[in-house]
Amino acid sequence: MQQGLQLEADRGFGNLQGRRETFAAFLRLQLGDCPVPLDASHQERLQALLAGYSRYEDLSLGQRQRLVRLSREWLLALRQQHRPAAEMAPPRLKLATASKQVRHQSAALVLSPLTPLADVKGIGPRSAARLAQMGLLVARDLLRHYPRDYLDYANLKRIRALVPGETATIVACVRRSHAFVSPRNPNLSILELHLHDPTGKLRVSRFMAGRRFTSPAWLKSQQRQFPLGATIAVSGLVKQTPYGPGFSDPLMEVLDHAGATVQSQHIGRLLPVYSLTEGLGAERMRQAIDAVLPLAAQCLDPLPLALRQQQGLISLAEALTVIHQPADQQQLTAARTRLVFDEFLLLQLGLAQRRRALKAAQAPALLSGGSLGLGEPQGLIQRFVELLPFALTAAQQRVLGEIRQDLGRSEPMARLVQGDVGSGKTVVALAALLIAIESGCQGALMAPTEVLAQQHFHKINAWLNELHVSSALLTGSTPARRRRQLLDDLGNGQLKLLVGTHALLEDPVSFERLGLVVVDEQHRFGVNQRNRLLAKGLQPHLLTMTATPIPRTLALSLHGDLDVSQIDELPPGRRPIATQVLRSGGRDEAYALIRREVAQGQRAYVVLPLVEESEKMDLRSAVEVHAQLSSTVFADLQVGLLHGRLSSEAKQQAIDAFASGQSQVLVSTTVVEVGVDVPAATVMLIEHAERFGLAQLHQLRGRVGRGAAQSHCLLINDSSNPLARQRLELLERSNDGFELAEMDLRLRGPGQVLGTRQSGLPDLALASLAHDGAVLERARTVAQAIIDSDPDLKQHAGLDHLLQEQRQRLSQVAAQLN
Ligand code: ADP
Ligand code: MG
Repeated sequence: MQQGLQLEADRGFGNLQGRRETFAAFLRLQLGDCPVPLDASHQERLQALLAGYSRYEDLSLGQRQRLVRLSREWLLALRQQHRPAAEMAPPRLKLATASKQVRHQSAALVLSPLTPLADVKGIGPRSAARLAQMGLLVARDLLRHYPRDYLDYANLKRIRALVPGETATIVACVRRSHAFVSPRNPNLSILELHLHDPTGKLRVSRFMAGRRFTSPAWLKSQQRQFPLGATIAVSGLVKQTPYGPGFSDPLMEVLDHAGATVQSQHIGRLLPVYSLTEGLGAERMRQAIDAVLPLAAQCLDPLPLALRQQQGLISLAEALTVIHQPADQQQLTAARTRLVFDEFLLLQLGLAQRRRALKAAQAPALLSGGSLGLGEPQGLIQRFVELLPFALTAAQQRVLGEIRQDLGRSEPMARLVQGDVGSGKTVVALAALLIAIESGCQGALMAPTEVLAQQHFHKINAWLNELHVSSALLTGSTPARRRRQLLDDLGNGQLKLLVGTHALLEDPVSFERLGLVVVDEQHRFGVNQRNRLLAKGLQPHLLTMTATPIPRTLALSLHGDLDVSQIDELPPGRRPIATQVLRSGGRDEAYALIRREVAQGQRAYVVLPLVEESEKMDLRSAVEVHAQLSSTVFADLQVGLLHGRLSSEAKQQAIDAFASGQSQVLVSTTVVEVGVDVPAATVMLIEHAERFGLAQLHQLRGRVGRGAAQSHCLLINDSSNPLARQRLELLERSNDGFELAEMDLRLRGPGQVLGTRQSGLPDLALASLAHDGAVLERARTVAQAIIDSDPDLKQHAGLDHLLQEQRQRLSQVAAQLN
């Protein structure tokens, strides 16, 4: 139940849909089936909780949060009462020795990492309640509540000695504290503090963007956080401001007992800074952590000593202690490395096991017994290659060779093809599908959007007709009759290739003999969708393709169970796309360029960000810009409009018109981001470019430069944020998708890079995919070695246990996603 409650909290209290029932129904069932006798007061609480869950759907978010929290607390209290006697009794051996010191120790030994926080000496019931609000319930939770940062007192400076360009920490007193909504931007709130120390004065501002930070209650809470007269520590990069040196977005913390904390010996010069909650100050958090820290020694180390030594890692107990109380940077690094290693190791063990399971299954060997030499063209492929108006690049040939080798084996292929935008992945995918079809199997090609599925189908169908191979398109908008017929043909094996969207995943779709599944733009799909499609055939081979080159760390974390091929070469004759960042004042210049290009027979995209409801006001929308351009600036041209809310016919019409040249300008949302292929398009104009990630902009840019003519990408940047400008300038300099993806990861973090919705990212508490690549590689090597020698983790019980826990969490998430 605790896991269910935690998951519901993690997922934002949306009443999770589990495999069988909803979260609320699950709780009702479980609560109704209490395995221990309850006294009157517990009965009463149980009934209250039951009542809550029976109308969970109608509760507000706040009420749901409260109900979940109360349930967790009650379960803990109950567990506490009904704990087996053995667990309650202090170890007898220790009690026998009677020195004062030892008695003190043995009292501590009653506690375990699973002790509820309220029972830990040094944490009062009030603090425990506050900690419970943060999801910290037992001692182990608090040990794993890592500092979010550290104040470095090694850089302690006086205000007068601050030098712009250096990082520094000051300890100063609050003279004025003022939180207000920016007079220029109603979505921005500003906290301004006036500070002083014996040598001078300083202003510090903190900016918070977003409507939710502008409520009076929030502003007041900000002010209250840094009250007049409080001593605070401020740490960060010193920059030059009109008022003298100041801090840019500093780390700030109130020091309740400033003197004591700064001089405290055992903390050393690095002071941990924790995420806090209303009513629980930094000092009390540190006290609570101190209270559980002795329990770190009881945490079993899942890593065998030999492995630890080989990898130069400190013990888990030491790492958990040091991460909260590092004496210096060096110690801190050692502790972090150990904990990060664990996180990655677990992740990679899971992937290595999955890979093993994947490979253990039987798949149809699609090239009969290797009687044909590898890489040697067969009839169908040979004819297909001859149909193409171009020769395959060396990279395409190499990757196709790798795929052929996989397909010749009876263990299923699980391969990811990465290739920059325009590197020609479609042709490779189709060739692979033809291998499957030639050997008597069926193939499926799945694309993330209807637009892309249609485009693939039209292109592929033209070739397949010439090869006399039957193919069909299945999407959400395929009419029912057509759909039925198509499913029949699929079931009796007449239909050889099915192209479609995730409609392919729906239940009635079943193949006669599915041999190969290709998932295009696989980063747009969740891992679960991929697995569902696999379940459709007798363990078919799987080929996934992605055009968003993702950094290696991300690839290893998400697709560590796959083999990876790279198409690292573009077809010849492509010229780099000339990219330029413009202010909105440069828009006329951009329109003039479009005009010149169109006059020469080329075409242009104008792309606008997908508009979220609440933000509609300050953004130019696709519909609006289309109306404006078609009636004024480009009144003499045909201007098309494409966005996600159009019917699929309307979408297809807009694309067809643009592809055939009937319209010369296409105003679109990011629907065109993925895979749309119109070689005559040479201009990509992107409005509000600062709102997109680098990888996404690179994808959009990849829509042009597909023919031989010089192409242009114009990025209009409306923001005055210097960081946004810097980020966009990277695109002016680099045409390399991998390089940009790395930068994007560093600048925006993995959740943003992948799009949080379907990322399937593991929950890493401490590890950073942007910065801990080296540790990840090590953990991956170790994980593989462990699984090779001990596939069922019989000799690694600690790891096995953690892995089971993780798997349970993941399967709950998966159940919800399915
Ligand atoms: P992506 O890898 O982004 O999916 P596509 O498969 O859509 O790229 O290919 C981009 C364009 O390049 C298409 O018009 C395709 O026909 C063309 N193309 C593919 N391979 C070659 C090649 N070897 N030589 C020339 N053009 C190619
Ligand atoms: Mg593609």
